[in-house]
Amino acid sequence: MPDLSEEMRMPTPCPECGSHRVRLSEVHNPTDKVFCSSCNTLRGEYSDLKRELQEQPRSEAESLLEEAANRKKRTE
Ligand SMILES: [Zn+2]
Repeated sequence: MPDLSEEMRMPTPCPECGSHRVRLSEVHNPTDKVFCSSCNTLRGEYSDLKRELQEQPRSEAESLLEEAANRKKRTE
């Protein structure tokens, strides 16, 4: 069976594990479910992901968020 999924990078980290990697179907239907690629938490539907990518251009805010997520992880 062919693997029809692909990975993308989200501007926001996973609320569970802090990973920015998500896994989704490469079909890209707006209602396709998008999951965290490291812990399988549901991150939303592809339409949500697309909107998030458009609303949050890669910027300094992203690296600050990532830094905060890493810091949180270390102190837990
Ligand atoms: Zn996760």
